[in-house]
Amino acid sequence: MDSLDLKYSKSILLYLMKKKNAKKSDLFKIVSNNFVLDRLLDKLEIDGYIQITKNIIGPIIYNITLSEKGKMVALGLMKIDNLTKNLVEKSYLQNNKNPYSFDDQKLINIYPKQILISDMEISDLKAISLNIITDEDGFIKLYCNHDKSMKCKHVLFAWSLNEIQNFIQLQYCNSKLQEHS
Ligand SMILES: [Zn+2]
Repeated sequence: MDSLDLKYSKSILLYLMKKKNAKKSDLFKIVSNNFVLDRLLDKLEIDGYIQITKNIIGPIIYNITLSEKGKMVALGLMKIDNLTKNLVEKSYLQNNKNPYSFDDQKLINIYPKQILISDMEISDLKAISLNIITDEDGFIKLYCNHDKSMKCKHVLFAWSLNEIQNFIQLQYCNSKLQEHS
């Protein structure tokens, strides 16, 4: 088994990449068990990912650094780390920008041919107008003058309101009655 598959090995390479070099005691933050740490460092050294130098005179201090091979691996790990972070951040943003959340919008008024709503995200002064139009099949549709769209969030918001649903159905009935009169 490659030493990179061992638990904590990637954390140690990333730590060494950041700190350039470490004493063995620094790595107790990652692996608190001395025996496990020794075994892991041995394997990482044998596989050529790290270099361990011991000073012979005085108390034994291990100085641990990444080899060139270890640096390459650590760089790769950092890239994956950043990618994962980006993905997490992006999906967080996406979740929070819910297109079906209409918190910023309010109905101002309903007219026979137009609906006025406010959208705080766009302007707190200017109203957004939606035209009430009839398509070629005789169905009533809403058209947003701001987005030039029948599918934008203002149209979706308007369709979600009870008042609008009732109003549109009454209008539709009226137009059908007029056709027959
Ligand atoms: Zn719109």
